[in-house]
Amino acid sequence: MPGSTTSRPRGLLAARRRSPLLRLVALAAGLASLTFLAALAPAAGGEASGVTSAGALQDGCRRCKGRGVKDCPKHDDIDRDFEGRVLFCSVAAGCEDCGGTLVIDCDRCDGGPESAAAEERRAAITAWMERSEVAKHFERNVPRCETDHFELVLDVAGKFKVGRKKIDGHRLMHLVADDTSFVAAGVAEHFEVKPEEDYFAKMRMWMWPTSKDHVEAVRAFMNTSARGDFKLLGRDPVFSVWQEPGLFATAQGIRTVFTHNASHMLVSNLLRELDISPHGGGWLDAGLGHWHEYARFDRSVQYCIEEASALDNFSNGVWRAAIRKMCERAASKGRTLLPSLFNKTTTSMTAPEQAICWSFYDWLVAEHPSALRPILMGLKQKTDARELLKEHLGMGLLKAEEAWREWVSDTYPKKEKTR
Ligand SMILES: [Zn+2]
Ligand SMILES: [Zn+2]
Ligand SMILES: [Zn+2]
Ligand SMILES: [Zn+2]
Repeated sequence: MPGSTTSRPRGLLAARRRSPLLRLVALAAGLASLTFLAALAPAAGGEASGVTSAGALQDGCRRCKGRGVKDCPKHDDIDRDFEGRVLFCSVAAGCEDCGGTLVIDCDRCDGGPESAAAEERRAAITAWMERSEVAKHFERNVPRCETDHFELVLDVAGKFKVGRKKIDGHRLMHLVADDTSFVAAGVAEHFEVKPEEDYFAKMRMWMWPTSKDHVEAVRAFMNTSARGDFKLLGRDPVFSVWQEPGLFATAQGIRTVFTHNASHMLVSNLLRELDISPHGGGWLDAGLGHWHEYARFDRSVQYCIEEASALDNFSNGVWRAAIRKMCERAASKGRTLLPSLFNKTTTSMTAPEQAICWSFYDWLVAEHPSALRPILMGLKQKTDARELLKEHLGMGLLKAEEAWREWVSDTYPKKEKTR
């Protein structure tokens, strides 16, 4: 908002609050009326130095600390922080007092330097709300928010435990928004993303209250039918699930599934609209999916596995020591771990196989970060993955496996710290 506060003629703003009579007086009498108004509003005193300039009434008053607006009392500091990190939020926009601008007009003066920005913000929020297909379709203010790279719907019921606190769905939506922003920043770093040119769409991620709403949303917005979870990668990525009791009953369950899938979606849309998993890039795709989840939560518990079951799990999501052990066992039997994975898609891998991909990706990030973008670019052009390793790491797959395993035994602990 800062930066645009002084360009708007103040007459428009002041007109909203003044009586028609005062407005006429102000317009007709110019400077004389300014003095007149100042006399009417004692709280506007102390601005004597501004009276001679045309912007006198834009200086606010002592009550609003010279802002022209006051903080809307409906939002606490935590809300303000959260709202400040998203572009728009429908829950904030639903505030009857401020319409999501988080400020209300000062009732003691005719505005100040922040008034114009608040007006502009209100107009932008209104336009955003009117654009929403989701709200239009469901005929209600569905809880949703937008960030630089995501449009999130988190239409969930109940309270969620986070640490020792209980939070509502709105706050959880903002935690999820922060999680997806964290992932976007990580993906940007790994693949040297230029946001303006490398993405083709915003990622849409939805969690609906019931399976009925989910099916309805997928039918209405995707023009297709889905009985289970819905995930579309590549062009215009969409992820849709519903708040099944059990599966998504906790804040952690919801946050991890959004965080994990956010990375698959971003990368599928990056550089070229193509999911690399069916084109020899399952190992990279699986690896990065777990990597960002692990970076955010210090573990990874979400698996994209066809026909996934509750048994799909590797070492309770805490992997470094377990991977180290797996590498040592493979070494003692003279077995390799990577080659068979290079032919698999993400969803056809087992949980331990996905964990291996995570670790291999972990090694690439640590030891060969500048190879990530060209490797992804190559996979998007459907170049053979083994060729890409040779070209960008200077080693074939077997040599890469050797180097990765060596790095694992140098850097991963023998035992995880107890939590
Ligand atoms: Zn004021
Ligand atoms: Zn919000
Ligand atoms: Zn408000
Ligand atoms: Zn995954």
